[in-house]
Amino acid sequence: MKLNPLLNGKRGADLLHDPLLNKGTAFTEAERDALGLRGLLPPHVATQDQQLAKILETVRRKPTDLEKYIYLISLQERNENLFYRLITDHVTEMMPLIYTPTVGLACQRYALIFRRPRGLFISLKDRGSVKQVLQNWPHRDVRMIVVTDGERILGLGDLGANGMGIPVGKLSLYTACAGVAPNQCLPVLLDVGTDNEAFRADPDYIGTSRPRARGPEFDAFVAEFVAAVQETFPSACIQFEDFGNANAFRLLREYREKICTFNDDIQGTAAVTLAGVYSALRLTKDKLANQRFLFLGAGEAGIGIGELIVEALKAEGVTEAAARRQCWYVDSKGLVVSSRTDLAAHKQLFAHDHAPAASLLAAVESLRPTMLIGVSGMPGTFTEPIVRTMAKLNRAPVIFALSNPTSKAECTAEQAYTWSDGRAIFASGSPFPDFTLNGRTYKPGQGNNSYIFPGVGLGVIVSQSRRVTDEMFFVAAKTLATLVTDADLSTGRIFPELQRIREVSAAIAVGVAEVAFKRGLTDTLKPTDLLGRVRAQMYDPHYASYV
Ligand code: NAD
Repeated sequence: MKLNPLLNGKRGADLLHDPLLNKGTAFTEAERDALGLRGLLPPHVATQDQQLAKILETVRRKPTDLEKYIYLISLQERNENLFYRLITDHVTEMMPLIYTPTVGLACQRYALIFRRPRGLFISLKDRGSVKQVLQNWPHRDVRMIVVTDGERILGLGDLGANGMGIPVGKLSLYTACAGVAPNQCLPVLLDVGTDNEAFRADPDYIGTSRPRARGPEFDAFVAEFVAAVQETFPSACIQFEDFGNANAFRLLREYREKICTFNDDIQGTAAVTLAGVYSALRLTKDKLANQRFLFLGAGEAGIGIGELIVEALKAEGVTEAAARRQCWYVDSKGLVVSSRTDLAAHKQLFAHDHAPAASLLAAVESLRPTMLIGVSGMPGTFTEPIVRTMAKLNRAPVIFALSNPTSKAECTAEQAYTWSDGRAIFASGSPFPDFTLNGRTYKPGQGNNSYIFPGVGLGVIVSQSRRVTDEMFFVAAKTLATLVTDADLSTGRIFPELQRIREVSAAIAVGVAEVAFKRGLTDTLKPTDLLGRVRAQMYDPHYASYV
């Protein structure tokens, strides 16, 4: 009998223990006969749809989100196809469970829920032999690596090696949202110590209990990792994720022209937010050139968004200097102004001549922004007086509370709508439920990078681009914005429904690949039917037949 080459010789108990191949009770009678599975499974043969209905019910019955997360991860560990059927078919319900906000909780308790390792933990102890560690990974055709050092996990701070939940979750979204095959995804945690003293004192902490490596020690370790990836997985793109901002900006500058890499916190956030801005402008019937942006938070997300807005304005003919003057920042020390002497390099280009402001409210009153964007990780900072002032200044004030997880949002959807008398155009980083005010139901949009990075990654894989460029993120933002329908906008939702995410990712992948071909970033030839090529690349979680 001819067997599916996917099996690679696997049969019997080995097959049941391979999460990429296992189908559980859905192995057919013929497969059970041919693959030595008789007796290893109960006699009833289920379909994948039946399995799906059962696990959906089980997930829904779990009393807490963390328990749902633990159940889903254990499903992923035993049957990836079923896990991804569940996530793709019920993406709106499942994404908050496998990613923000639940993943934040999971990382905080990772030591307790950690059962079976997933991804590679590479620690300072492995210095000099990082390449050998990479070679221990069981899959060879790695195309997408998400790597973190756990220093700035969501808005939760330094979670050290517990941060592994983030690369694992992000790569699950690459697969669920854009069909990057699970065996092409590699989560990596660089364990360089932690400055989280509670973790260091905890005997159950899963990482190395030492202060974080910094400076040359850190840089040399990252450099060894990057070089080892080039040798071991030469077709892989490296996405840096949730590094502290001093390192994140430096690493992006260091590697973006040398290897295929990007930083999602900086570039992905920028693209999804710019798409939200374009949608908001459709609602306000205004132009980008007329906007004034005020950011709370001048870190990776805030500066990344500002830089992309500058690019978008330049594309509309605004000079760089004028474009920068449209973007203003408040950080933990107050308004970012040119008289300040404490500004990190990434903030200096946005430091304008202006008197210091005593508070965010004072900054709103004096700068009169049209769009207020929260990327500070500081919950509750968009207070009632601030939202009311925005509503006084603007017919439709744009208020994005992008900090994750939900507990860190600058304000809730309910607050934004209530305090603006229903006029706010609102988006958040983590999802908020629909909200009804004066008989009108608002569907707050989730301005989360998961609309962007899976499609960007897929476009890079399909085109085999050697680099990831800002132009790709600009194109991704524009593509995402064009997929927002008038029906979406009529309910206040400025992003497409999550249920359409695979279509969104495919469109973004086409745009990104077009840039790679146009800019000569690849040696492969552009296919005549690029969308068809992208779709063909997308992993399908329906079971394959093995016999
Ligand atoms: P970061 O550490 O690089 O930057 C945080 C910034 O906030 C810094 O400039 C800091 O000075 C400022 N800040 C801190 N306390 C403040 C205060 N009280 N008032 C004003 N500013 C203050 O972090 P980041 O990567 O920019 O992320 C910030 C937040 O944005 C996090 O909560 C993160 O989860 C969220 N984020 C959301 C998305 C998304 O898709 N929605 C994407 C990336 C980041």
